[in-house]
Amino acid sequence: MLKTLLVLAVTCTPVFSAPEGRPALPPPVTVLIEFDKPHSVRSIAAMERETAHILQLSGIRVEWLMMKDLAPHAEFSDLVIVHFRGSCGMDEIPMPLDERGVLGLSYASDGEVLPFGEVQCDRVKQSLRSVVPASRFRASEELLGRALGRVVAHEMYHILANDQRHTNDGLTRPGLSARDLVSPELLYPEHAAEAVSRHRNPN
Ligand SMILES: [Zn+2]
Repeated sequence: MLKTLLVLAVTCTPVFSAPEGRPALPPPVTVLIEFDKPHSVRSIAAMERETAHILQLSGIRVEWLMMKDLAPHAEFSDLVIVHFRGSCGMDEIPMPLDERGVLGLSYASDGEVLPFGEVQCDRVKQSLRSVVPASRFRASEELLGRALGRVVAHEMYHILANDQRHTNDGLTRPGLSARDLVSPELLYPEHAAEAVSRHRNPN
């Protein structure tokens, strides 16, 4: 928690400026990620692609940074911290868990959603067991990445739209199934995508 508070203390100074004569790209949302355990590099690369794809449809550019690579006194215009719990790689087959558990979560205080998300890798993997044959489980790192990317994007909806509620359809409905996590595409429904895009332009 101390580390989190220290990071937050350096988050609020805009550092973006456009070269003269060139239109300014919107500053990225930096997602600072931290892992409990060793993780699959391939899965995490796939996760980053999936989340970035979903967010860019709302005009949000995502930049990723590992907590271990965080420079002292780093400054960010827009920061979200995501902590990955459990084993985020397919080499470790998860112990059976209660399937009703959450795949990810975000935190709120006084009705405001805070820029902290959490992903439960073992629960995501547990969910995948119902759609990935046991013989292919260990080779499904890309699929794990897609699933993780959708869980991250779901939590980033809550955070960027500052909305604890869910929608009736799409990626922002509650209780995503294993098929939702691995289907060819699952995006924010239109009104959720618009709410996320207003993160940058509240009016
Ligand atoms: Zn949710």
